[in-house]
Amino acid sequence: MDCIFCDIIGKKESAEILYENDRVISFLDIRPVNYGHTLVIPKTHYENFLSVPPEEMEALILATQKLSNAIVKSLIPDGFNIVVNNGIAAGQSIFHFHFHIIPRFKSDDFKFRPNLKSYDDGTMKNFAEKIRLAVTT
Ligand code: 5GP
Ligand code: ZN
Repeated sequence: MDCIFCDIIGKKESAEILYENDRVISFLDIRPVNYGHTLVIPKTHYENFLSVPPEEMEALILATQKLSNAIVKSLIPDGFNIVVNNGIAAGQSIFHFHFHIIPRFKSDDFKFRPNLKSYDDGTMKNFAEKIRLAVTT
């Protein structure tokens, strides 16, 4: 299987590695939204958020918090986003799961511009019922 992130893990591709442990590796994104934009990935190949097993997810979220702390300490951003894109429609381009940590600055002009919807009468309840049912089954 061709996967650039697996190649980075295997040191067949170079990357600016920031941190690694037995389960997780973190490196700079090659096309940053802002300088210091960081990726945190599992050393085992999983396609997306839903395919990562719980114990791996725990290691990933802890590493993401560690790296976020380091970014805040070293780059002093005004804030930061933690983002996961799942599926082509959501903007995923590398199908090896990863958290993005994006340092944010008041003047960076990076905006998520959703066209916010409103629920019509009763539809909010219908959506909630559908999801609640799926949570418990
Ligand atoms: P996605 O769009 O899947 O959520 O994010 C994939 C990210 O990986 C993109 O932000 C892209 O810039 C980054 N990326 C793609 N190829 C490489 C690479 O070879 N090296 C590094 N360091 N980052 C990469
Ligand atoms: Zn991979």
